Amino acid sequence: MFNMILFGPPGSGKGTQSKLVSETFEFLHLSTGELFRQEIAKKTLIGNVVKKFIDRGILIPDHIVMRELYRYALNHQDAPGIVFDGFPRNSDQASTLDKVFHKKELRIELVVSIIVPENILMERVLERGKDSGRSDDNIEVMHKRLEIYRTQTHPVIDYYKKSHRLAEVAGNRPVEMVAKDIQYIVKAAIDKHID
Ligand code: AMP
Repeated sequence: MFNMILFGPPGSGKGTQSKLVSETFEFLHLSTGELFRQEIAKKTLIGNVVKKFIDRGILIPDHIVMRELYRYALNHQDAPGIVFDGFPRNSDQASTLDKVFHKKELRIELVVSIIVPENILMERVLERGKDSGRSDDNIEVMHKRLEIYRTQTHPVIDYYKKSHRLAEVAGNRPVEMVAKDIQYIVKAAIDKHID
C-alpha cells in the first residue's frame, strides 16, 4: 500500500491535485474537510458538532478528526493507496498517524507540499467563494484559516523534512503543470517503494 499526503495552505490547489493524483494512480482520495462538509450537508450529529469549527476557520479537535478518520479507513481497507488531503493539520495529528500506521506496518511514503504566495491564496479562495457554497471561503474566515495554517499546520513540514519524506512543488502555475510535476514525483516514490 502506498500512502501519501498532499500538503498546502487553503487555496493551494491541494483538493484539485489530490483528486488528479488519486485518479491517475487509483488511490483513495481522503479529504478530511470534504468528509466533514458531507456530514454537515447530511445534518448528522457529527456534522452539527464540527460546523461551528469550520464556519470559524479553526481546527476541529483532534479526537473528533481521528475518530472519523479511523471509521473511514476501516471501511476502505482494500485501497491500493491513500492520498491524504487536509490531514495532518498539526504536529499531534502527524505523529499519531505515524504511530497508528507503524502498528499496521504501514507508513506515509511521501509528502508533497504545494507552495503558493499568500496574496494569491486569498485571491483564489475569494474567487472560489463566489460559487463554492462554502461557509469558510470569505475574507474574514480566510484570514483566520491562513493564521491557523501559519501557526499550527505549516510547522508539520519540518517533521516530514527530518524524515526525508518531503517534496515541494510550486503551485502558482496552471493546474496541468503542477499535476505533471506531482505525477513525476509520485511515480518516482512508488518505484522506490517497490524496489
Ligand atoms: P479543507 O477542506 O481542508 O480546507 O478544510 C476545511 C475545514 O475543515 C478546516 O478549516 C477545518 O475547520 C476542518 N478540517 C479539515 N481537516 C481537518 C483536520 N485534519 N483537523 C482539524 N480540522 C480539519
